[in-house]
Amino acid sequence: MKVGHATHVGLVRDHNEDALYVGRRLWVVADGMGGHAAGEVASREALAVIARLDSEAPVDRARVVAACEEASSELIRQARRHLGRRGMATTVTGVVAPDASGAWLVFNVGDSRTYRLAGGRLTQVTVDHSEVQALLDRGLLTPEEARSHPMRNIVTQCLGSPLAPNPDVFFVILAPGDRLLLCSDGLSGMVADDVIATLLGRGDDPQATAEALVEAAVAGGGRDNVTVIVIEADAGDASALHPPTSEAEDHGSAA
Ligand code: CA
Repeated sequence: MKVGHATHVGLVRDHNEDALYVGRRLWVVADGMGGHAAGEVASREALAVIARLDSEAPVDRARVVAACEEASSELIRQARRHLGRRGMATTVTGVVAPDASGAWLVFNVGDSRTYRLAGGRLTQVTVDHSEVQALLDRGLLTPEEARSHPMRNIVTQCLGSPLAPNPDVFFVILAPGDRLLLCSDGLSGMVADDVIATLLGRGDDPQATAEALVEAAVAGGGRDNVTVIVIEADAGDASALHPPTSEAEDHGSAA
C-alpha cells in the first residue's frame, strides 16, 4: 500500500490536540480532549498504547478491544496522577493491514472517522459514537441538520472515560487503487463529503491527497485541528505480508 498523512493546528486553536500514528501495518488518528495541554497528552498517550498492535499478527477484534481498554486505563491513571490532566480523553480511529483473508480491519471510538473510496464512490465505514449520530439513528435529524447541530461535538464514547470503551470493528475488502481515509472531525466537520470524494479520487498520490484535504479544511475556516491519513491499496497488500499457501500456489496465484 501507499500512505500519505498530514495534520494542521487550524486557524483558531492554540495547539494541535490531534495525533496520528503511521506504522508498518497499523495507522491511527486520535483527537484529544481536555483543558490546557491535556488533549495533546491524551491523544499521544493513547496512540503509544494502541501502536503496540503494529507488531502483532494477527490483529483481531479482541486485540483491538483490549488495546483500546488498555489505552483508556492508561489515560485514567495519568489523569489521577496529574491534576492538570483530569478529564482528559481522546477519540480514535484506526486501520490494520489485511491478513491472509484479505480484509482490512477498521475500528473507531468516538467521532474520528474512516471512509472508503471504491470505484469513485465515497462511503463512511465507521459510525460516530456521538449524540448527533444517536439522533440521526432515531430519525430525529437530517444529515444536513446534523452538520450544524449544537451538540455535534459531543461524543458518547471516548478513551479516558470511566466507562469501558466499546470500539466498533469493521472488515473492509479493497481492490487495488481503492483508498481509505482516516480523519479527525476537523476534516469531516469542515469539508463536505462531495469535496472529500473529489480530492480523494482525483488521482494525486496519497501524500499530495492528504495535504490537499488538510488545506481544504483550513481554507474552509480551520475552526478545529485537522488530521488525515490516506492509504491506497495495491495488489500485493495481503500476499506480501502472508506468503500464499501451497494450496494457493496450486491455483497459480504465487507468481
Ligand atoms: Ca476535533
